[in-house]
Amino acid sequence: MAQIRIENLRKDFGDFTAVKASSFTIEDGEFFMLLGPSGCGKTTTLRMMAGLELPTSGEIYIDGEEVGGLRARDRDIAFVFQMFALYPHMNVRRNIGYPLRSQGLSRAATNAKVEEIARLLDITAILDKPVGGLSGGDRQRVALGRAIVREPKAFFMDEPLGALDAEFREHMAEELRALHDRMGATTVYVTHDQLEAMQMGDKIVVMNHGVVEQFGVPQDLYDWPATRFVAGFLGSPPMNVLQFDGQVAPGVSEIALNGTMVEVPETREGVSGPLGLGVRPEHVHLDPEAGYRAKVVAVEYLGTTQIVTLATAHGEVKARIPSAQKVAEGSTTGLRFDPRKITLFDATSARALRSAGNEKVLRHG
Ligand code: ATP
Repeated sequence: MAQIRIENLRKDFGDFTAVKASSFTIEDGEFFMLLGPSGCGKTTTLRMMAGLELPTSGEIYIDGEEVGGLRARDRDIAFVFQMFALYPHMNVRRNIGYPLRSQGLSRAATNAKVEEIARLLDITAILDKPVGGLSGGDRQRVALGRAIVREPKAFFMDEPLGALDAEFREHMAEELRALHDRMGATTVYVTHDQLEAMQMGDKIVVMNHGVVEQFGVPQDLYDWPATRFVAGFLGSPPMNVLQFDGQVAPGVSEIALNGTMVEVPETREGVSGPLGLGVRPEHVHLDPEAGYRAKVVAVEYLGTTQIVTLATAHGEVKARIPSAQKVAEGSTTGLRFDPRKITLFDATSARALRSAGNEKVLRHG
């Protein structure tokens, strides 16, 4: 069990900075997701926390103790690189027990522990089988068993489900999450898949180009992105951002888009120049009577909902609406936005403006 805190962590490779002044806290027992596109610095951050990579600067604390001087094996973290990596010449029992035997634990004590882990993972029936003939799911469970058997302070996993097909991946994701809930061990999990991060994580940190864009609980990040990047990275389709030039001041609760007044959460700061109005597709409503006009460009049927792509004076907008609502391609309609769900962005800094909607999230994130 461990709380892990990083402060101003930085990693340079020559003159390239892979991680820039990252800070966040992983609370004891959390399932914590490091999320971002390929190359954003997730793996480098994880490896620094594990002691496999030396930070250029910054601090890492485990349970309040600065661990910069500790080698990887003294940090007591189980790093699950690749769940399928088993010892092929050993059976399941010996694979799981290996870390304990190599620490010098007796055969009897190792066996007792292995059997306890096997019950937790529901693999008692295969304990004496060779690993060669096991199904993918069982191999994954055995590899997990080997990681958890020595009860480390925390588990680190780097895209552990990356190689699996979609259906199996979803199943293993559920199992991993359920196992975490039974054990309650701090888990740090690297993924580039925003859906996986939102489904599995208690908290998510979103990274981009080595920078922490935002961290917090999934719904806060989804509802109230702190930056344009987070708005675009979470959600499928992503948040719409309508571009316009304008001015907002503290206390403003509506803005003019092409002469149509649009209600927004009351702003807490002022800015003038290029702005963005962010709204999720499910908060865009087609209403022929609404003053803000748009043309239907495409309609994508998805079963219970449909995604309607619309051309507006401020760029393309996607709406997620019930399939029962009739929409004709090429027709013109009006748009309404749910006023409580709007985020305004300063387009120059790409930051969300503080408002009555997001101020609590931005203060804590
Ligand atoms: P991916 O999912 O593709 O692994 P990531 O977010 O985990 O991406 P990192 O592996 O942390 O990204 O890499 C961040 C950046 O640092 C990348 O541009 C990568 O090329 C660079 N990098 C990583 N390790 C080294 C190294 N040992 N030497 C030089 N550059 C490196």
